Amino acid sequence: MVRDLIDKIRRVFIETLDELQWMDETSKMKAKEKANAIKEQIGYPDYILEDQNEKLDQEYINLTFSEHEYFENILVNLQTGAQKSLRKLRERVDQDVWLIGAAVVNAFYSPNRNQIVFPAGILQPPFFSKHQPQALNFGGIGMVIGHEIIHGFDDNGRNFDKDGNMFDWWSNFSATHFKEQSRCMIYQYGNYSWELAGGQNVSGISTLGENIADNGGVRQAYKAYLKWVEREGKEPSLPGLDLTHEQLFFLNFAQVWCGSYRPEYASQSIKTDAHSPLKFRVMGSLQNFEAFSEAFHCKVGTAMHPIEKCRVW
Ligand SMILES: [Zn+2]
Repeated sequence: MVRDLIDKIRRVFIETLDELQWMDETSKMKAKEKANAIKEQIGYPDYILEDQNEKLDQEYINLTFSEHEYFENILVNLQTGAQKSLRKLRERVDQDVWLIGAAVVNAFYSPNRNQIVFPAGILQPPFFSKHQPQALNFGGIGMVIGHEIIHGFDDNGRNFDKDGNMFDWWSNFSATHFKEQSRCMIYQYGNYSWELAGGQNVSGISTLGENIADNGGVRQAYKAYLKWVEREGKEPSLPGLDLTHEQLFFLNFAQVWCGSYRPEYASQSIKTDAHSPLKFRVMGSLQNFEAFSEAFHCKVGTAMHPIEKCRVW
């Protein structure tokens, strides 16, 4: 199911390129090639379920732990980790190695592999379930998939080509306009002041890549959901909730970013986190998305339906 979702959203990313006036045809072709070349890792590596598991045994061969020696166990861990890192100097790069544990509730894009990763940890509610309405799946994991794909085309990822090499594949026209489109988001997010961090403003520059990914991710997942409904028909509505499926999509998008911070952590993360604070991740992307104000009937000129909207992808 997740592989199928990735295919659907990748296709929407490619189709959406046609809508963009700031990019020329040559760069669009390159972008399409790069999107098609993105490799994926889903859940966990197959080998961990094999019976005779040499690879897994090898992974732990130098780790001997004692039940009674906590400190020594930590040292063994550090030593094995250091040896493993050093050995990499003499080994060929393994493009397919899994760098992330299966239980991690997060997702990744790696620019120098042009690869997206969705560990098993994030493939559960509220992000994803085969038992929940597709509106929730597209608003949850669908949006995350879109987000990770777009990292390949944000202010950092765009500097790498389809094979993960640092290479400028952009025309001057498209590169100049990419920066112009991005500037809008730098100002938009830079204007958010966060009470929990003593009223400090978000840095529109250091959160740019994540904001570009959020904005494109939610737009493309929404489009993919509408296409799914067109093909499969409308889903039955949820009992007890007076919400349309379009509204449910956005509700789950907001739900997956629901969280809280201690003020101390807020002050630290506003300086160090490449992501905008959670509530601005939600509001920022939806203020720019006309489909949201349509679904919730926001009047033109209100906070969630501003006249000026930013868009990169
Ligand atoms: Zn991200």
